[in-house]
Amino acid sequence: MQQDTVNIMAKLGVKGFATENGMLVNSPIDGSNIAQVALASAQQTDVAMDAATVAFLQWRQVPAPERGHLIRLFGDKLRQHKMALGRLITIESGKLIQEGLGEVQEMIDICDFAVGLSRQLYGLVIASERPGHKMVESWHPIGPVGVISAFNFPAAVWAWNAVLALVCGNSVIWKPSEKTPLTALACQSVLSMAIQECNSVPRQLSQVLIGRATLGEQLVKDARMKVISATGSCDMGRKVAPVVAARFGRAILELGGNNALIVCASANLEMALDAVVFGVVGTAGQRCTSTRRLFVHTDVYPAFVSRIRQAFAAVTVGDPLAEQTLVGPLIDSAAYEVMQQALIDARKSGAVVTGGQRLDQGCAAAFYVRPALAEMPEAVKNIITETFAPLLYVFQFDDLNTAIAQNNAVPQGLSSAIFTTDLRQAELFTSAVGSDCGIANINIGTSGAEIGGAFGGEKETGGGRESGSDAWKGYMRRSTSTLNYSNCLPLAQGVSFSINEAMGPDALSC
Ligand code: NAD
Repeated sequence: MQQDTVNIMAKLGVKGFATENGMLVNSPIDGSNIAQVALASAQQTDVAMDAATVAFLQWRQVPAPERGHLIRLFGDKLRQHKMALGRLITIESGKLIQEGLGEVQEMIDICDFAVGLSRQLYGLVIASERPGHKMVESWHPIGPVGVISAFNFPAAVWAWNAVLALVCGNSVIWKPSEKTPLTALACQSVLSMAIQECNSVPRQLSQVLIGRATLGEQLVKDARMKVISATGSCDMGRKVAPVVAARFGRAILELGGNNALIVCASANLEMALDAVVFGVVGTAGQRCTSTRRLFVHTDVYPAFVSRIRQAFAAVTVGDPLAEQTLVGPLIDSAAYEVMQQALIDARKSGAVVTGGQRLDQGCAAAFYVRPALAEMPEAVKNIITETFAPLLYVFQFDDLNTAIAQNNAVPQGLSSAIFTTDLRQAELFTSAVGSDCGIANINIGTSGAEIGGAFGGEKETGGGRESGSDAWKGYMRRSTSTLNYSNCLPLAQGVSFSINEAMGPDALSC
């Protein structure tokens, strides 16, 4: 695994990252050490923030379509290096090779989106209530953007943030997860290849700082970082949000989910089965949008739940680099312990649990598990915590309004889905009295979002929006300008304030 990693890093042009006595990086595939990387010091972080400020002052003057040209080149480089980068993502995060490649494709897609956006950072012309006046709203670059990312999407989440921030005229500093620093260094190297082919790009426009939570804390509290986009657990967000707010910075928070899927009696059960199994086992249950809770209508409950149990027992668990594998490893031993504790708690509450056992893949330091199903007793109505593992809690319902209420009765509000062929049920679920999540899908599972939509969730998920739609506005400042092309100075709301009347005959007439 180590040699494979060294080869990929060389292919992607990453040099000088390996160091003795640095932070150990392990692959979850076999638990082996694949590199040691140097950590950025507090002083280096300080210097980087100064450099990001200098780069911003220059880059904001480059016309947006020219900024888009850099992102077009970056997208081209990603296409060229998709296989190598996708493989590195799999080696470092443990997700399936198909998912690693999919993550690079997501980066390419957001580059395409951002290139188009570079000619569409539209403002508004607003009707003024005053004669001879025009009101316009424009969007301007805001400043250096700090991106703090989680281990489970070690490349795409940065790309969502970085390419929009860059097209919007900002510089970027990225602090990746301490569990996936190599992917970050490789992404930065691919971006550098594009930067080298452009003339007008300031040095240090995009920087990567490898470090632990303390490095993130330093970025979060520093007023030079005008935007902090932080992706990770609700606990992390709970610490970050007040610090950014205290200095009146802008935070984009993408935090934990506790996503539910509702299967109605009218649902196409084959489609629902595929969606549930992918939602639970995809990325070994380590997606923010993974399906955690399932509400099944009483009429179809026994047959449907039995199919899920069979599917969980049948899915191939193992090496994520092997094409036939459907479930890779958990990220580390801590993730395994958390899952086991959740299973113990579920059993104690009276749940019937199947699966969840560790599978021997011949490596003591790697953690592969059979996906688990916990059929909850009637007395337990909900599970309010996110367990970042392939574990599904199942509940039965008779009345859709009750299931929607249960979907909403958790602190998190990221993703949700309903399977139904009844139009009224589908509309209810996506209406004002339906799901309270940022994502509410119909006949599609909870995970696997496209880049075109705004991605994010409500409540303890943090309220941030990234990626498509108008998420770009989060990386710009808004300016409202009223332009008077008349010869008078009327005030808004008809307020009368006349110097002429006060001055009498001495006044200049307009
Ligand atoms: P984590 O919270 O442990 O770490 C995320 C990042 O935050 C890391 O880079 C970490 O170093 C940094 N960090 C931790 N404490 C910090 C602090 N006080 N100040 C600044 N930075 C700090 O999360 P994880 O285990 O890497 O990822 C899993 C979690 O991320 C899950 O809860 C998952 O739902 C969530 N997630 C959410 C989204 C989303 O878009 N909503 C996407 C991916 C992951």
